[in-house]
Amino acid sequence: MEENVGLFSRELLNRLAGARRVAVLTGAGISAESGIATFRDPGGIWERFKPEELANIDAFLENPALVQAWYSHRRHIVHSAEPNAGHLALRALESLIPDFVVITQNVDGLHQRAGNRNVIELHGNINRSYCISCNRYATEEVLSTGEEVARCPHCGGLIRPDVVWFGEALPEGAFARAETAARRTDVFLSIGTSAVVYPAADLPLLARHEGAYVAEVNVQPSAIAPLIDESVLGKAGLVLPELIETVRILRNENRPA
Ligand code: NAD
Ligand code: ZN
Repeated sequence: MEENVGLFSRELLNRLAGARRVAVLTGAGISAESGIATFRDPGGIWERFKPEELANIDAFLENPALVQAWYSHRRHIVHSAEPNAGHLALRALESLIPDFVVITQNVDGLHQRAGNRNVIELHGNINRSYCISCNRYATEEVLSTGEEVARCPHCGGLIRPDVVWFGEALPEGAFARAETAARRTDVFLSIGTSAVVYPAADLPLLARHEGAYVAEVNVQPSAIAPLIDESVLGKAGLVLPELIETVRILRNENRPA
């Protein structure tokens, strides 16, 4: 009984129309249409470096000025970017679903800027920085003093971005909250993630194991595509507004008069 309505299966639409709980996992793909999909924009001085070479504690201790400059460049890209139609559709979905959570691997803060209130950041946020010696958060001013290396005004320690680097553990509590949400949810949507970075990629599979309907939105099938219920192929900024608008209409029709 493979009935489709446009890009979506009837099953996905019905599940979303009746859902009390929805959990969404997002990756770099949802920010692609805001212009910050990749670590680097082509042609810049950062072409010479691989993200893996800069986004780790050893690189930072070896050359803090270089790593700080790279993050300052990335913060600049994030600050100039705006939430796109995909982010805004998830904000609209939050207003339809009683219990809604966005679990994100992104560090750009665009879900919060779109207006989503329940966001779990698995990899931190590039807009925050802290001192590696005393753990105090650093203000914007500390990062832009013009000194070659940004240091803590309290103890002189090095200032790093509050993001999860290669080889580091996820922020305490964040993954546990994401797991709880995945276990409980009625529908799980995996959006713009290649689903190869663990443990985040376990979340859709956990949700499915616990009985949720699991769909992904991606321009191509991800690594977990064979293990989930449905892959909707297309750009998040095009697919999500259409999905959420259809669900909104169905939920209105279902509402008792
Ligand atoms: P990824 O780069 O591994 O995968 C991105 C996925 O998005 C791919 O599967 C791709 O097919 C898909 N995609 C590309 N454009 C899309 C679009 N318009 N609509 C829908 N899907 C689209 O990213 P990941 O899975 O998030 O993992 C990479 C890691 O890099 C993460 O840990 C993340 O923290 C980090 N990162 C974050 C940002 C950010 O904050 N915006 C940017 C780059 C990297
Ligand atoms: Zn300090």
